[in-house]
Amino acid sequence: MTQTMDAQSRYDEMTESLVGRGVFITPKRAKLLEILAGADSHPSVSELHAQVQLRYPSTSLATVYNTIELLKECGQVLEMEFSGAANRYDGRRAAPHTHVVCLECERIEDADELESDGAYASIEERTGYDITSHRLDYFGACPGCQTREPGAH
Ligand SMILES: [Zn+2]
Ligand SMILES: [Zn+2]
Repeated sequence: MTQTMDAQSRYDEMTESLVGRGVFITPKRAKLLEILAGADSHPSVSELHAQVQLRYPSTSLATVYNTIELLKECGQVLEMEFSGAANRYDGRRAAPHTHVVCLECERIEDADELESDGAYASIEERTGYDITSHRLDYFGACPGCQTREPGAH
């Protein structure tokens, strides 16, 4: 599951799993799924909300929140929590994976080099734990922030 799927297949997967749970896909929800399936920026709920509102201005924040909750429950979105900052979401890749995080502008990108399908098995063997998820992020300054003058945001 280290491969990035294309936006259309991710959209189809997310839609199917929600429909499978009896969730009605309203046009607003469909728009949100479409954004999540195609966004590589790991958007926050307020960013997602703003983007859906460009098309459907009456969309409530609650609609975005509860759709994300449903997607989380069926393992169709990856949630990243940060202390002191908003949660961020990856709908393109719902399985845990490694990220690089910019501490200055909060940009987040996938960092794939360290993914290994055998990692869970070897950690389970060593520790006796039943591993169901993992989290590994690298923090630093993105290329844009390295060239920007200090304090000039
Ligand atoms: Zn940055
Ligand atoms: Zn990601």
